[in-house]
This record gives sequence, structure tokens and C-alpha cells, in this order.
Amino acid sequence: MSRVALFGGTFDPIHDAHLAVAAAAAGQFHLDRVIFVPAAHPPHKAGVTHASYDHRVHMAELACQSDPRFEVSRIEEGTARSYSIDTIRKVRATLAPEDELFFILGADAFSEIRTWYRWREVAASVIFLVVSRPGHIYDVPHEVRLERLDSLELSISSSDIRRCLSSGKTPAHVPQCVLNYIYENCLYSV
Ligand code: ATP
Ligand code: MG
Repeated sequence: MSRVALFGGTFDPIHDAHLAVAAAAAGQFHLDRVIFVPAAHPPHKAGVTHASYDHRVHMAELACQSDPRFEVSRIEEGTARSYSIDTIRKVRATLAPEDELFFILGADAFSEIRTWYRWREVAASVIFLVVSRPGHIYDVPHEVRLERLDSLELSISSSDIRRCLSSGKTPAHVPQCVLNYIYENCLYSV
């Protein structure tokens, strides 16, 4: 039996909090694999991403080399809208029936769960691992199976990192290999 978690996001770019969240979840819930799933066209961001899908995938791949439990999936590549329920179905189909499927996300993302496309089906398909994020509280619908990870309070975001880069400064909390990739490919600059 393996314990597998999906970790979706725009990862625009991936940063240290994403990695810390995944590592904390993997440690606390004995996960064998954490599958990072960069969104192609995230419904909650009105299709707006900054770096291209390929660049976001490459940055995630570089960062995920730091932990053998981490991998990156292109499962949402080419999808018109990346709905979690479709991704969950596709990944579930690759697992054994006894494998357990988790879904990692931050408190900000979980607080919007009721707005997700077919969220009750999502809730019936996975166990949520919800990680605290400064300034975000959430309530738990009764349909949801959920474990809380309240040990992390990391005020790091891709938005702040993009702002920092576009004003010509060097951002903290980006893995060095990812920062090198950003500079080599002239991403997020003005
Ligand atoms: P942006 O500022 O562009 O929204 P972000 O830093 O929120 O970027 P996302 O790619 O939107 O990163 O997030 C992917 C997942 O990681 C989401 O579930 C989000 O809640 C979670 N996450 C991101 N940063 C943190 C953090 N500092 N603490 C806890 N969870 C986080
Ligand atoms: Mg976000």
C-alpha cells in the first residue's frame, strides 16, 4: 500500500514554502510520494499566469530534486481548465485500490473549497491535508475528510517573489537552482 499526495498550484515560481509544506505533510502523514501538479489554466486565477507552463514545470522539477519523495506531473498539460476532480480521477486510475490518496493545500486555497467545480466529488475522493498560512482561516464542510498541519506559519508567496524580481531585487526563499533558472530565462523581469 502506498500513501500518495497531490499538491496542485501555479508554482509561478515554486518557492521554499511549497517545499516545506510538502516535506511537513510527507513527514507527518508518512507519504511515499508527493506529486506536484502545476496548473495549466487555473480556474481560480482567471487564466493568468506569469511564466509559461513549461517554465513552471521546469522550475518545479529542479526544486523537487531535493527530495526523493517529490515528483512533478504534467497531467494538467493542455487542459482547457485544470479542474482538480479530473486530475484526481486520472491519478487514482494509476494507483492500486488499496493506495491512499491525499490532497495537500494551504489554508487560503482550502477556504475556497465550496467554489470548486464538483467539490463534493473531490471531497469524497481524497483526504485533505490543510497547511496553515498566515492570515487565512477556514471552516470545514461536513463532507470533507481533513487533517490539519498547523505547525507552519510561512509568510512566503510567489506574488511577493515576482514583485521582488520585477523591481530588480534578489528574492529570498527561492531555491538557488530555481533562481538560476529564472535569471537564465529572464523570467519575471520588467
Ligand atoms: P501566488 O502568490 O501566485 O498565489 P502562492 O505562493 O500562493 O502563489 P500557489 O502556487 O498559488 O503559490 O500555491 C500552491 C499551493 O501551495 C496552494 O495550496 C497554497 O495554499 C500553498 N501555499 C503556497 N504558499 C504557502 C505558504 N506560505 N504556506 C502554506 N501554504 C502555501
Ligand atoms: Mg496562491
